[in-house]
Amino acid sequence: MLSKMKDFGFSVNKSRVIDYDQNDRALFYYLMRVEPSVSLCIACGACTATCSAGAFSSLYFHKIMLSIRRGEKVYIAKEITQCMLCGKCQLVCPKNVNTRGVILQIMSFLQSSQL
Ligand code: SF4
Ligand code: SF4
Repeated sequence: MLSKMKDFGFSVNKSRVIDYDQNDRALFYYLMRVEPSVSLCIACGACTATCSAGAFSSLYFHKIMLSIRRGEKVYIAKEITQCMLCGKCQLVCPKNVNTRGVILQIMSFLQSSQL
């Protein structure tokens, strides 16, 4: 039935349920300990708007920040490798999040947890 439907050039978004029971929030708790400024993020997107890598890749740093809270470790591990550690995101952050520090700690955590 669905295959016979006319294609109007748009589709219904996939379900985006966040299951906190399935997600692993260990990275969030780790960052709260070693880089507490992570908790100041308001997901405004200023970091993404200025990101050097974002213009050429799928890296959206505000989504990384949201995923940290949600415990979406697989997504973070895939995307964070595209960061060039330039620090521009830190210069524009209105909440003064130490974004570069957050990124370095994410890399260190992922390396030690061997995801
Ligand atoms: S600019 Fe700062 S407050 Fe805004 S989303 Fe990025 S890290 Fe969070
Ligand atoms: S440090 Fe990484 S996330 Fe931040 S602006 Fe540079 S490339 Fe983007």
